[in-house]
This record gives sequence, C-alpha cells and structure tokens, in this order.
Amino acid sequence: MDILPYSDNHHAFRMKLREFLSSEVTPYVDQWESDHIVPKSIWKKMGQEGFLCTAVSREYGGFGGDFLYSVIVIEEMVKTNHTGLMVQLHSDIVVPYIESFGTEIQKRRYLPGCVTGDIVMAVAMTEPNSGSDLASMTSTAVEEEGQVVINGAKTFISNGINCDLVVLAAKDPSVDDPHKAVSLYLIEADTPGFKKGNRLEKLGMHSQDTAELFFTNCRIPQAQLLGKKGHGFIQLMQKLQQERLVCVIWALAIAKNILSWTEDYCRNNPKFGKPLAASQSVQFSLVEMLTEIRIGTAFVHQLIINHMQRKERVIDTSMAKYWISDMANRVANRCLSMVGNMGMRETCPIVRMWRDIRVFSIFAGTSEIMKSIIAKSKAF
Ligand SMILES: Cc1cc2nc3c(=O)[nH]c(=O)nc-3n(C[C@H](O)[C@H](O)[C@H](O)COP(=O)(O)OP(=O)(O)OC[C@H]3O[C@@H](n4cnc5c(N)ncnc54)[C@H](O)[C@@H]3O)c2cc1C
Repeated sequence: MDILPYSDNHHAFRMKLREFLSSEVTPYVDQWESDHIVPKSIWKKMGQEGFLCTAVSREYGGFGGDFLYSVIVIEEMVKTNHTGLMVQLHSDIVVPYIESFGTEIQKRRYLPGCVTGDIVMAVAMTEPNSGSDLASMTSTAVEEEGQVVINGAKTFISNGINCDLVVLAAKDPSVDDPHKAVSLYLIEADTPGFKKGNRLEKLGMHSQDTAELFFTNCRIPQAQLLGKKGHGFIQLMQKLQQERLVCVIWALAIAKNILSWTEDYCRNNPKFGKPLAASQSVQFSLVEMLTEIRIGTAFVHQLIINHMQRKERVIDTSMAKYWISDMANRVANRCLSMVGNMGMRETCPIVRMWRDIRVFSIFAGTSEIMKSIIAKSKAF
C-alpha cells in the first residue's frame, strides 16, 4: 500500500531517529507538557544527531536529503505524543524561506546554525486582528537612514519563546496595495526593540511555546530583508504548498496513532465478559476509521510524490488540508468515546492527541479558507 519510494538509507534514518526519540524525548514529554515549553538543549541534541533541516544542502551543513526524510521526522515525532518540539515548523516550513529567498550572506550566516539547532526559527505573520486576512496586517517596516524600523505586534507564534531568529512579515505603510506592501525580514532575537511576550495558554499543544512577539522601533540593517521588497505575499504563497502538506502528513500520522492505540485498547479490555473489540458495533467503528485513514493515506502519498516531483498541487493540497484535518478530528472524537471514562483521564495517551489535533483545522489556513481556495479555482 505504501507507494513512497523509501530506500535503505531512509529506513536506517528512521530507526536511528526512533531510537534517539525513545531515549531523549519520550521520557521527558510529560515534564515538557507541564512546563509548557521544551528545553533549548533538545533542539541542539536533535541538530547534533542530524535530525534538523534534513533538506539543507551540504554546503550549509545539512545533508541535502529529499522530502521523504521530512516525512519520516514528522511521523516519528508524532509517536512521542507531543507537539512541543515543533521540528517540522523549523525544518520544513521556516528554514525553506532562507534556502529559497536568502542571499548568500544570509544563508552562510544562518543555515548552519539552523541545522545544528543553535538557531531555532519561527515565522510571524498572524496579528491580534489579522489571521486569515493577512492583507489586513498592521505591522510596519519603514526605511530610515539605511535601516528598517519595525513596529507592531504578532500573536500565536509557534516557537515564540525558544526562537533565535524570526521570519517576520511587515508592511510598508507608504504602499497602498496591501498585496504589494508586505515584505519579509529576518529578525534576530536579541535585536533591541524586539520583545518576546506572553506564552499563550492553549486548549492543546501544551508543550509548544506559542507566544506573542512585540516590535517597538526595532531597527534592523536593510540587509535583513529576505527576498525582494514588496514580494512578501508572493513568497508566502510560494511556500504554502509545503507548509500545508507538512500539516496534512502530521495530522494523518496523529489519526493513525490514535486509532492504533484505540484498536489495542478494544482488543485488550473486556466488557460484559468479552473484549470490547468483539462487539460488532465497535468493529464497525474501527473499520470505518481504518477505511477513512486508508483513503486519506493514498491521497496524501500521491501528493507527497507530486510535491517531490515539484508539481504544483495547491488545490489538491488545500483539499487534503481540510479533509485530513477534519477526518483526524472525527477519529479523535470517536476513539475518545469508545474508551469510556478512560477518555477523561490525563493518563490516557489519546487525550493529549485529541486536544492537539484540534488546531489542525485552524492553523496554516482554516478549513473554511481551504474550501474558499478550492471554490475559487472551480469558478462555480
Ligand atoms: C497553536 C497555533 C499555532 C500557530 N502558529 C502560528 C505561527 O507560527 N505563525 C503565524 O504567523 N501564525 C500562527 N498561528 C495563527 C494561525 O495561522 C491563524 O490562527 C489562522 O491563520 C487563522 O486566523 P485566525 O485565528 O485569526 O482566524 P480568523 O481569520 O479570525 O477566522 C475566524 C473564523 O472565520 C472563518 N473565516 C475567516 N475568513 C473567512 C472567509 N473569507 N470565508 C469563510 N470563513 C472565513 C475562519 O475559517 C474561522 O473559522 C497559529 C495558531 C495557532 C492556534
């Protein structure tokens, strides 16, 4: 069924990562969940072992792996049952901005540190009054005496506390067309005028340090512009296919994990003298979920292959983003119901996954936004 062309090297990488995560991550996850953050040291350990930025070329410290290495990292991270160490955001969503749009100087300055885990990255687009409608952002970037002065506030920024470098979207207020006003900038965490705000208390993703970021007369050299001035929107659009595909692979892996745990639970827990799984209604529920996951997997694997062939699949990826996110939430809800009062206990592994999966129909474009992208392409 698996159509992805994994090689022996991919399999060996997966085994090495699995072993690393079982000793360096899984034992600490409960602590990180109650700390509401992961320690910086785990980023460095991941980097030292070669598990960050697998796609970055050798020239900049990586090993130039294909997208299947990213898929492996996402799938194995899911098995640790937490979302705090958001490697996929760093490696497959934010760092690619530097790889694609960075100058040679920017690449040499930042990419090696991203690979080793010395530089943790975040991307800051969302503002208190600007989420889906990014064009309405109000953060400004004004050129002044050879520098750029940034003012504004960002919110819901993943890796917001741990980040060392931020890809920030801000507008030139002198440009009327909002789509031509946005540029991207690289902001180092210790730049005067840049302040990390509150770590947000969330329904799920407890170990993830999602935070507010504030910029007050934050002056950066013009050389920190990432890509061309006024091209921020185009750059964001260019990177959305991979960003959303990463979320799809991640959500699908969580759904598989929840179902696999629930299946075991139903096999091993007797009710009325026989295992739960002996009941036809439980069997039918499990079968329905297995089927949905199987259908989803076929779709996602095809998208991964197309993505690796550099084919544009924006509409299909939007379909997958909303459908897989909704399906994973359906699976999480049904599984939680099937385990009875266990599903209300913090010690039940699927409780955390049920909380964590909720956000997938919100971030990286809500399900409604995905449907409007698809509808527009169909010109109904
Ligand atoms: C845990 C978490 C992590 C995040 N990480 C990051 C990050 O690292 N960096 C970052 O920049 N952002 C991040 N975000 C923000 C995220 O990208 C936004 O939440 C998302 O874009 C939606 O914006 P919003 O929440 O403001 O919702 P809104 O845009 O206010 O939407 C509210 C509701 O209206 C609906 N809606 C909006 N517009 C339309 C429309 N045109 N048609 C139909 N329905 C519509 C939406 O679907 C939604 O249901 C994160 C969010 C969360 C929750």
